[in-house]
This record gives sequence, structure tokens and C-alpha cells, in this order.
Amino acid sequence: MKKFNFYSGPAILPPTVFEQAAKAVLELDNIGLSLIEISHRSKEFTAIVEEAQQLVRELTGLGDDYKILFMQGGATMQFCTIPYNMLDTNETAAYIEMGSWSKKAIKEAKLFGNVNVLASSADKNFSYIPKGYSIPADAKYFHITTNETIHGNQLQTIPDSPVPLIADMSSDIFSRVLDWNKFDMIYAGAQKNLGTSGATLVIMKESLLGKVKRPVPTMLDYRSHIKDNSLHNTPSTFAIYVCMLTLRWLRDQGGIAPMEKRNRAKAGLLYAEIERNTLFEANVAAEDRSMMNVTWIMHDKSLEESFGQFAKDNGCIGIKGHRSVGGFRASIYNAMPDEGVAKLVSVMQEFESKHAQ
Ligand code: PMP
Repeated sequence: MKKFNFYSGPAILPPTVFEQAAKAVLELDNIGLSLIEISHRSKEFTAIVEEAQQLVRELTGLGDDYKILFMQGGATMQFCTIPYNMLDTNETAAYIEMGSWSKKAIKEAKLFGNVNVLASSADKNFSYIPKGYSIPADAKYFHITTNETIHGNQLQTIPDSPVPLIADMSSDIFSRVLDWNKFDMIYAGAQKNLGTSGATLVIMKESLLGKVKRPVPTMLDYRSHIKDNSLHNTPSTFAIYVCMLTLRWLRDQGGIAPMEKRNRAKAGLLYAEIERNTLFEANVAAEDRSMMNVTWIMHDKSLEESFGQFAKDNGCIGIKGHRSVGGFRASIYNAMPDEGVAKLVSVMQEFESKHAQ
């Protein structure tokens, strides 16, 4: 039976990426050596990093004032690296809290300076996105999470910010057309829309740096990575290669605009079924729902386990909701084919026909 992977990350990638990555582990481009044995400073690997950076530029249209880096430590490491580099002890940064990931980013920033949480939806377990706040003009930066992977909410419009805008885009990067120039910094753990775990994409304006008074350890200083073009120390060469392959695939699909169209259609289908089906209920406010991580609950909790098992038995893998939310979550990233969503919808309908009163 064909299996469809709805895990939130590491997550589904295009089949061609798996094939090419597997091949390169045996031998990279007929060079007689494996991808994972060559030096990160070899001309072959340098070309891979440069192609990945070039593809990011091509897809976003961002100019040379933005630096493109592949770092380690995941998006989680960025939670502390950002304030370490950009927030002095007596300064304030603005954040919005709309789920587990923004909450974690806030916790880390508090270790370095003052944090002004402008708005939060913690009161309703992050089932909506807080609105109606204003961003203070004296904040050092404003941090947003464009898509909350666990709670299934997504910012539908990117706020205009009077101060540098920094976005955790781990779970929705390159899934929709954005005005990329609105951001001063974007970061994303690779293991959802970009590739496999072990690399973190950072896109940033260099002008954000060099302003804090504290000394920053070399490895945590963005300037080291900029200076050495993501090769300051040994990076995860395999993870960067998989990012490059996924970015090539995205370009070959026509880029971000057609991807957004498909993503909207896939998410639309799934939310429509959740609304229609008598057993299920969406748990995020309609206007804030994520196109990437679709979450829902069952009216009758006693059926949850058997629905989870039924989905699994029918090839829909990884739909159990995060323990902090319960219910179900289907992660339908760029690489999820239309037929995967269609399969999940048919599984939901079949389960309903067996169990609805
Ligand atoms: N931010 C978001 C929105 C995420 O979804 C995740 C991972 N699920 C993280 C941060 C943390 O990423 P990592 O595991 O790469 O540190």
C-alpha cells in the first residue's frame, strides 16, 4: 500500500530528492567519491553551497544586501543567537506569542534583554492569532512566527513593522508568495519545506549586526558565518545538499507562485472535509488556519484512537496531534502530492460512514 507521510518534521520530500540524495551518497556526480566523504572546502561542495544560495535568491528575488547562510543547531539555536547578536541587556525587543514556537523564542530572548510581548493567544491555547497590537518604534526588532507548526495557525498577512522584522519561517518557508523585502531576517529549520534536518537557512541583512556591546562567541556570531560563506566550521554537508536538491525541485515546479496555488487547493480540500464531516471539528479560528499544518479534533474523543489506527492502516502516517493540543494534525508541506490529501479525505469519509450515528 502506498503510504503518505503527514509528519510535521522531518517530513515528506519530493521523490526525486530522495533518489538524487541517495545516489549522491554512493557517488556524487561521477567524481568517484561520495557526497559525504568529500571536504566541505572542496570545489564540488563549495559549488553546492553556492548553488543553494543562488536558488534562494532566485526564488525570493532578494538582492545582495541580504546574506544567505546555512547554519546548525536548528531553528531553536536561532532563538538565542538572534538576541545574543542583536539585543543588549538594557534594550527591548518585541515578540508576538501565537504558539509553542514563539513561546520558546520569547523565553530565550529574555535571557539577553527586555522582551515586550505585544500580544498573545495563550488564553485559548493558541487557537487564534492575536491582533490589534502596535509595534513600538523603539524596539530593537520585532519577531514573528509565520506559521505555528504545533497549533496550526498561520499569519495571513505579514505586518508592516517600523523596526527590523525577524521571522521564524521554519514550517512555511517557500509555501506562498511573500514580499520578501519586508523582512530583515528570516530563518527556518530545513526539515519541513527545505530538506532534511541538520541545516538551518538564515537570510539576513548584515546591517543588523555589530551593534551589541557584549562579546559574541565566534561560532554564534553571524558575522563569522557571513565572512566564511557558511563554511566557518564543518557544516552538515549532506543536509545542505538535500536543501539544494529541494530548492532545485521547487524552481523546476515553477517556483513559489504555483506552489502556493497547489498548497491553497490542498488545504482547502482538507478543511472543507473537516467542516463537512460530522465526526470532526476544526480547532483554529477560520481566518487564521494554516495551509501547512492542518489541525482538528473529534467530537467524540473515544473514537480518536480508532480513527488514528484506521488512518494508519490505510496509509496515512503521522497524523496524531501534538500532545499539547491533542486531536489530529496533517502536515501538508510543498512536497505532499494532491493524492495524499485526497487519500486522507477519503479515509475520513470512510470512517464517518462506519461510525456516524
Ligand atoms: N520553529 C518552528 C515554527 C518549528 O516548527 C520548529 C520545529 N518543529 C522549530 C522552530 C524548531 O526547529 P528545530 O527543531 O530545527 O530547532
